[in-house]
Amino acid sequence: MSVESERRRRLLALAGELADDFATRAAEHDRNNTFPFENIARMKETGYTALVIPEAYGGLGADLLDFCLCQERLAQGCAATALAINMHLFGLGSMVERGDMTRPQARRFLEAVGQGRQIIGGGITEPETGGNWGFFATRAIKEGDSYLVNGRKVFTSLAPVIDLFMVMATVEDPDAGFLSGTLLIPRGTPGLEVVETWDTMGMRATASHDLIMTDCRVPLDHAIRLRTIGEILPEDISLFAWFSLSIASVYTGIAIAALNFAKAFASRHQPLPLPRPIKYLPGVQFTIAEAETLLAATRAYTLETAKAWVQGEEFVGEDGLRRVCMPKYFATNNAIRIVDLAMEVVGAVGIFKKHPLERYYRDVRAGTNHPFSNARMRELIGKNVLGIKLLEMPRW
Ligand SMILES: Cc1cc2nc3c(=O)[nH]c(=O)nc-3n(C[C@H](O)[C@H](O)[C@H](O)COP(=O)(O)OP(=O)(O)OC[C@H]3O[C@@H](n4cnc5c(N)ncnc54)[C@H](O)[C@@H]3O)c2cc1C
Repeated sequence: MSVESERRRRLLALAGELADDFATRAAEHDRNNTFPFENIARMKETGYTALVIPEAYGGLGADLLDFCLCQERLAQGCAATALAINMHLFGLGSMVERGDMTRPQARRFLEAVGQGRQIIGGGITEPETGGNWGFFATRAIKEGDSYLVNGRKVFTSLAPVIDLFMVMATVEDPDAGFLSGTLLIPRGTPGLEVVETWDTMGMRATASHDLIMTDCRVPLDHAIRLRTIGEILPEDISLFAWFSLSIASVYTGIAIAALNFAKAFASRHQPLPLPRPIKYLPGVQFTIAEAETLLAATRAYTLETAKAWVQGEEFVGEDGLRRVCMPKYFATNNAIRIVDLAMEVVGAVGIFKKHPLERYYRDVRAGTNHPFSNARMRELIGKNVLGIKLLEMPRW
């Protein structure tokens, strides 16, 4: 067995062990809208929180393909935990791959997550800008040896346990003008406040609360990725590769869990007038067949794209951006359809809270909202294949 496949086998075994454990508490956290602190503790103990950090820095050394496979497996146990930890891991994976921090910054940061088991997260989505990532209402004004940060972030998954908030902001620098950048703001920094707003239909255990910055002082060396606003750089494609493909995997994990539930149910459920369980009915077989076909296509597309990325295939410009994002569009929409089909197989029993299927049904609906949303993805795909630049004006 190659070194890569041995590592992948080991990582998947860990994801499976965690998923089976987290599944025992998923319904309770969902029902009570509580945060699974014990899942985070377990992921820290086992190194899962450092999944994508190189082994030299105390991590498990996963590449993008390992990451996708692990997240797909973890989500089968508790989708909310998988999605929440995804928000910690995807940016890290991309950052490690790009190596875009100055050396002492990189060492300090990677060791904090790898050996210190710190949690990062936060800080992209805002009420003003939503999924239009790249433009931020949050302002960081350079004043002397620090930035003065003001703004509000929403959907801050993992909010109760984040040690280091990654806040994306518009940076005003008297010398360089307007830039966009990420500020690393430690928990406890004066002016930083988590406001508990999270009470949603699905993905309830992610505790994706609001984060408010009021005159927060952030040292200049806590800023990374300062760049001109609006342009698409290779680092954006890397960030979206790690984000889109792992998000695709999380929602595919929900679809797998739903389909497994439906297949098990169809194998044991036997209404009195029928001679055999409902899996022998053509309607059930055809519905399962459609769902399995969608699942196979989804997994193949996501994982082949991740593989191409890991093998160093070139993903350039808007064409590259479309190629790394399309699997997320395909996967999140297919996952909704697959869970709907699972519901159809199970029938009315599927809406009972004592079964996980109704939670899968609610959780899976969040998927299409993560960037790129359906509308924005269709625009990117349509324009790209028709040879129209995304930022070309007039837009329509
Ligand atoms: C469970 C969950 C956890 C999350 N965790 C995090 C997290 O940890 N950190 C984080 O930063 N974010 C997080 N997010 C935010 C998420 O990834 C998206 O950024 C957010 O859901 C977008 O919100 P919105 O749909 O209200 O945005 P909007 O962009 O306001 O979209 C609203 C609608 O308008 C359309 N629209 C908006 N802009 C355009 C446009 N330019 N062109 C065409 N149509 C447009 C959209 O398609 C959509 O239909 C999370 C979201 C969820 C659901």
